Amino acid sequence: MKKEDIQTLAEGIKSGNRVSLSRAITLAESSLEEHQKLAHELIQELISFTGKSKRIAITGVPGVGKSTFIESFGKLLTQNGYKVAVLAIDPSSSLSGGSILGDKTRMEDLARNPDAYIRPSATGGHLGGVASRTYESVLLCEAAGFDVILIETVGVGQSETLVNDITDIFIFLQIPGAGDELQGIKRGIMEMADLIFVNKVDDFGIDKAKDVKVTLARSLQFLPQKPSGWKRKVLLGSGLNSKGLAEVWELVQDYFDTVQSNGYFTENRKRQDELRVVEYIKEQISNRVKNLYKENSHKDSELINPYLIAEKWVKENLK
Ligand code: GDP
Repeated sequence: MKKEDIQTLAEGIKSGNRVSLSRAITLAESSLEEHQKLAHELIQELISFTGKSKRIAITGVPGVGKSTFIESFGKLLTQNGYKVAVLAIDPSSSLSGGSILGDKTRMEDLARNPDAYIRPSATGGHLGGVASRTYESVLLCEAAGFDVILIETVGVGQSETLVNDITDIFIFLQIPGAGDELQGIKRGIMEMADLIFVNKVDDFGIDKAKDVKVTLARSLQFLPQKPSGWKRKVLLGSGLNSKGLAEVWELVQDYFDTVQSNGYFTENRKRQDELRVVEYIKEQISNRVKNLYKENSHKDSELINPYLIAEKWVKENLK
């Protein structure tokens, strides 16, 4: 791909061409260094068209109903005139090459909706790299005119922290009963959550759901305040029956009003950009060190302590 191709791709993205957007995301997800460079040039071309979407994290354990929720929520948003992009961060794809989220039959209706764009998760590489690539995809979707970007991740650990670092608001889906303790490991996740949506209320019955709401609200009181000044909220509903989703959107809008007026929104995005810079530097250094070590690995058979080997190697090879 040449410089002119980058210009054409940028024009395609700005005019909302899906094929251009998909090609650009593929370029950004590539681990080849030359692709990375081109992706960065492309983002540079588009940078003044980025930053204007609402970036929303959606998380919860497998089976809690994330894709069903996103399908219904996405539909509601497009009906209200918004353009919605859905991206996914899938820790399983980094670990095993397999995928919990990547199944193509998910969100079929939304996939056919002309105002929605669904991109299965970035695969390959380590999770930090995947998050970094997802962030580039966010910027590309923004340049393509998407107003709301939903970033889905499986609630199984590290991926939440990463998604929290590329989004503005964090929605955590729960189901009543199903191992609340397990879901609550999750203390860390609860801390990140701005909004907890207790899903499948149609199935569990309203009484049980209300109990869960009270219990959750009580346990949220013991968590430290969010730096945004926002008070975590709990809502009940059902992704399958689109119950409670309009309320979710209202709260999301309230949230944005709050953090935009108290300055947290800008501060947080700035912090996230700085984090991206540091992460990218770390990635570059780590790749270089790996290559350098391959070419020039440690040969001193006297030393067996890995720390001493590393110290000696650094002294000799990194200036
Ligand atoms: P994910 O793994 O978190 O993406 O969960 P899915 O969206 O694939 O949903 C898992 C299962 O729960 C599917 O069989 C859904 O039909 C079902 N489900 C999702 N949302 C609801 C809901 O609101 N009510 C009920 N009764 N079932 C739901």
